[in-house]
Formats: sequence, C-alpha cells, structure tokens
Amino acid sequence: MTDRSFTLPPLGDNPSTDTQGTTPGSFALKGGVGTPYTFSSPDTPGQPPVSTITALDFSKSTDADCKTQLEEARHGRISGEAKQVALQEPHLTPEQIRFEVATGRMIIPANKAHLKYKLHPMCIGRASLTKINANMGASPVSSGTDEEVEKLRWAEKWGASTVMDLSTGGNLDECRTRIIQESTVPIGTVPIYSMIIGRSIEELSYDIILKELEKQAKQGVDYFTIHAGVLREHLPYVRKRLIGIVSRGGSLLAKWMITHNKQNPMYEIFDDICDIMREYDVSFSLGDGLRPGGLADATDEAQLRELVTLGELTERAWAKGVQVMVEGPGHVPFDQIEYNMKLQRRLCHGAPFYVLGPLVTDIFPGYDHITSCIGATAAAYHGASMLCYVTPKEHLGLPKKDDVKQGCVAYKIAAHAADVALGIPGSRDRDDELTKARAALNWQKHFELSFDPELARAYHDEDLEVDTDFCAMCGHDWCSVRISKEINEFYSGKDASAQPVKTAMQSPGVTDAGSDILRKRGNLSPEEIMRLAHKGKKADCHSDKVADPEKAKLVKINTLKAHGVAVNESGL
Ligand code: SF4
Repeated sequence: MTDRSFTLPPLGDNPSTDTQGTTPGSFALKGGVGTPYTFSSPDTPGQPPVSTITALDFSKSTDADCKTQLEEARHGRISGEAKQVALQEPHLTPEQIRFEVATGRMIIPANKAHLKYKLHPMCIGRASLTKINANMGASPVSSGTDEEVEKLRWAEKWGASTVMDLSTGGNLDECRTRIIQESTVPIGTVPIYSMIIGRSIEELSYDIILKELEKQAKQGVDYFTIHAGVLREHLPYVRKRLIGIVSRGGSLLAKWMITHNKQNPMYEIFDDICDIMREYDVSFSLGDGLRPGGLADATDEAQLRELVTLGELTERAWAKGVQVMVEGPGHVPFDQIEYNMKLQRRLCHGAPFYVLGPLVTDIFPGYDHITSCIGATAAAYHGASMLCYVTPKEHLGLPKKDDVKQGCVAYKIAAHAADVALGIPGSRDRDDELTKARAALNWQKHFELSFDPELARAYHDEDLEVDTDFCAMCGHDWCSVRISKEINEFYSGKDASAQPVKTAMQSPGVTDAGSDILRKRGNLSPEEIMRLAHKGKKADCHSDKVADPEKAKLVKINTLKAHGVAVNESGL
C-alpha cells in the first residue's frame, strides 16, 4: 500500500505577529538573539557546530577609551549610532544591538569622519535584517567620478545597504572623496588598488600600505577589504585549481610574496593596520583572496586554509578593539553552501559573513545576477549577514546604471526571501499586505506595496489600462482570483483597507519611468505608450457588461482584441 499520510510542517504564524523576535518561520530555528544562533537555519547532519567564543573574550582595558563601536559596546555603553540602528531594526532593542556588537556578531560600520557628512548608521549581523552591497568604481577603461556618483545614488535608490568603491582608474582620491561626501550608506574600499597606482605590485612596501590606509581612514571610508589571510603556505594549493586566484587583491599579494619570497605584508603588519583602523573606527572586511572562481574550485584546501587564517585574524582584530566582518565565496555548488556558511560561523566565532553571491552555476554569463542570487538566498538563510551583489555584467564588463539596478533588485529579493524564511519578525508583513491587495484585485494598492511600483504599473497597463477585477493574463471570465471571490463570497480579504474603490476604475496612468520601461520593451507603438501615459477613455472589458452580444463574445475571446490591439484568433 502506498503511504499517503503526512504531517503538516511547523509553519508557525506570520513572524510579524511577535515583535519580540522569537516567533519562528516555517522550518527555521526559533530566533535566538543574544546566542550564537540569532536567526538561523537548522543544521543538516554533519555541519560544523557554532563557536562559543565571542569578541567579549578578547576585551581589553583599552575598551574604556571607547574609540570604536566594539569597544563602546563591550564597555557596556549603547552608542548613539546603536540607538539609530535600532530604529531601522524594529525587532531588536538598542540593548540587543549593543550586546550583538559586543560579541562581534554584529558591526556598525561608521567611520567617525564619515559620520560628519550624510551617513545613516546601519548594522550588519545575522540578528538583523540581511543587508546587500553594491560595487561600483571607475576602471582604467571606463567611467569617471560623475558617473560613479550617479551610480551611487542609483544604488541607494534601489536598496543598497552599503556601497564599495572599487575604482582602479581615473582620479581615485577625487572619486572616493565625492562618494563619501554624497553617500548616506557606509562606503567600503579595497585599499591595495590605490597602493599600486603609478607603481608595480613588487614595489609595495609596509610604509606605502600604512600611509594609504591612514589616508583613506581619514577620508571617511567605513570598511576596508584587507587580504591578510592569503599566506605563502596556501599558494601551492592553488595549483590544483581550474582558474587559480580570481580575487584582484589575492592575486596581487600572491605575486608580491613570490617575488620577494616573503610572507603576505598585510599579515605581517596586521597589528599596525588595526591601530590605524581603531583610531577612526574603520571596520575590517577580511578579504577572501583565495575565493573560488568556479564551481570546480569551491570548498577546496586553498579556500578553507585561508578561512582558518581569517578566523585567527578576527581574534587579533577583536583584541585590538576593531570591528570585523569576513568575506566569502564566490562560486559554490548549491549543496555546499550551508557547509561554507557554518564553517565560517565556527572558525570566525559568528563574525558577520559577507559573501559575493555565490554563483551556483558557471554557464550563464549575462545572467549572473540570477545564478548568484539563488546562491545568495541560500547563503543568507544558512548564516551570511550581507550579500555582495552581482550584476548581469559580471565577468563581462563594468556595470552600467541599469546593471546596478538589476543587481540590487536581484539581491533585495535574495535578502528578503532569506529574512522571511528565517522568521525575522515583521519581515513578512508587506508580503501579506500585498497578497491581501492582490486577492482584493486592488491594483493601486498592489502596486504601492510592490518593490518597483512603476515597473508593475507599466507592465499592467501595457495590456489593460483599466484597474478592474481581472488582468490581461487570463481575462475576465477566466480570472481565478475573481472567481474565488465569487465562490467564497470572499470580497477583498474582508479587510476594509484592501477594498477596491469600485469594481472597475480608470488606471491613474503610466509614469514617465513606466513609459520608459515600455519603450525599451518595444511591444507597443509610441502612440500607444503616449495614450497609456496620458490616459485615454475607459475601455469596456467585462463581457457581462457589454450589451452587444457579438462584442461581448469578442471581449470573452480576448480583452486585448476588444481594445483594438492586434492578436490572432487563438488569443495568443
Ligand atoms: S486575470 Fe489571472 S493573472 Fe490576472 S488577476 Fe486574475 S487570476 Fe491573476
């Protein structure tokens, strides 16, 4: 006999029903803010356990001087920035934020110099909402300061939580200064890029490293990617790889070590680097110079040995009072993602993991915002705190403005999906409100609640410029949502705020941005787009409200045709 029995999974309530941070989502562990688990997925068998060590174990008497958020939190004080962060994370109290920062499981990347401009403090850590980073920066062959500042504004508009200026060309100092002055989000850099402008990597010296870090710290950079974890003894493991070292910083430092037959200079003077960063409260983003550049190289010895060193450097930075997050891969098969996240959580004692993607397949250049956001969703669910976006231009060229938008949107989807799955309180509220509006066929509210209202409105109005109780996907007589309402007498989710104003009302029209979207799609003539933007007369699209039976039949066959849009007889 076939066993057809099943038990309903523990779906729980909407996590938003409990703002104290304890109601689980479906399969996620119950929220444990204040413990190494914070919000986390259940471990599948064989995963590395959590570490019980925290940044509190590395407290120093210098904490009383409180030069950094970490020292202030370890000293028991709730900083002004922590209070501001709490306003953006309503499921956490200021004291919970202080404690998470004190343990090193959360950072508040806020250089004191940047706080004098427009920076809004935010946090990165698994107890908080998942954050996303957008990379930008001029290259020697493309873009300039104005274009990069424009991309910064664009990235902020589309939800970037932090921005990294990865410029390797143009006027680096001018570009960085403008970006810091204009940004409301924390700015990260990879300072080694500036260190080798006008000189070869072989000429890099301890003095050049420290001077450049001091300069950028003074300018207001909030976090530095420092590839101090790539050691000489790791390099032989790279030989087995298909694509070697794909991190720019990692490959440059490997060349330096081979040329000079010495240890990584960033590792050698790590304590001096910490001293500079502590003065301005610049956070570490400990770089993964040996991250895999293809699925075949993922989770190999080179990558994991570097991760062990990153764990050691995390402890050394904490002992110096400096905040730390750790960078991660890259390209990882989907089934290896949980192990990668949980091994980092143990080796780096819960320090926030900041991952690039990871891409879960290598054969879709041009679509790597999608291949990577699939991996990013899994990474965040299994422990990553911040996701570095990948744009459609990844591996192919420097992202342009629209690529920045596509990357940000893909990663907002990944971050939000993970937050809902982890059961972070409040994270599903908007989804549920949108579902109610959708069930009520309340199009205006549907669009207002959507992440990109102009795009949603434009796509809807492209086919049907009337906000009525169906859309052009199925048409009136086949609209399952409308039929369900009739069957159940379920009008508008029984929520007064979700009631449509009336059965059919004229669309308010497509905005300029929406018109632009439709122009690029190329499905409509300029005249048709103009009509949608400026509104024509209301179309008659209910078959049961059309007096002429022949015309009613036509409406049933295809609403588009009734609107005068050319379609074939099958309605396709
Ligand atoms: S017509 Fe189809 S796609 Fe449109 S609202 Fe109704 S069920 Fe949904």
